[in-house]
Amino acid sequence: MTHEDFDSLKKELSSNGVTLVAVSKTRSPEKILELYNFGQRDFGENYVQELTEKQPQLPGDIRWHFIGHLQRNKVKFIAPFIALIQSVDSEKLLREIDKEAKKNERTIDVLLQVHIADEDTKFGWDAGEIKAVLPKLSKFQNVRVKGLMGMASFSDDKEKVTSEFSDLHNLFLDCQKETDISWDTLSMGMSADYEMAIASGSTMVRIGSLLFGKRD
Ligand SMILES: *Cc1c(COP(=O)(O)O)cnc(C)c1O
Repeated sequence: MTHEDFDSLKKELSSNGVTLVAVSKTRSPEKILELYNFGQRDFGENYVQELTEKQPQLPGDIRWHFIGHLQRNKVKFIAPFIALIQSVDSEKLLREIDKEAKKNERTIDVLLQVHIADEDTKFGWDAGEIKAVLPKLSKFQNVRVKGLMGMASFSDDKEKVTSEFSDLHNLFLDCQKETDISWDTLSMGMSADYEMAIASGSTMVRIGSLLFGKRD
């Protein structure tokens, strides 16, 4: 994407109060720097090993987001620096993040991943499970839950995608009412569907191919 196109995307997003996370999985540090030099600071990665290889090679003021399935035994590798873990899908994982955050004398921000698509390959909690975990969140003293993340079905059916996004938005609003901690982040929308996600109340989009071109 050219600098000009990037600026106009940023403008569109910020006029809606939406944060852009540039999804940089499979992209080289050089490609990431290109976007960094346009002013981008939030980058998202899916694999721990890839992230821990790139992170030391890139500027220290990048806010790294973890958006892939996270195994408990790998939390320790990202705990020292991760800005937001978006893909928390179990209480056991919350406990592990809490433990590693304590060791690093920090608090780690996370999102709870909700399963909204009809494909069963996607990880995450369903609405009932999210509501059940809410009362337990305060026991994790070094984890701050900021909101929810979800991925819609991979589909051309706009009504279906929009209805999945608005279900997630409604769940987000319900949870906001039930928690006294401030939830401010609803991460939904990717290259193909971010406009629908924003129309349904997204506050954070995760965009890869639109910024960097098609992945191999
Ligand atoms: C890869 C990925 C994205 C970005 O997808 P694009 O279609 O390239 O924008 C967003 N969110 C998650 C969880 C991903 O794995």
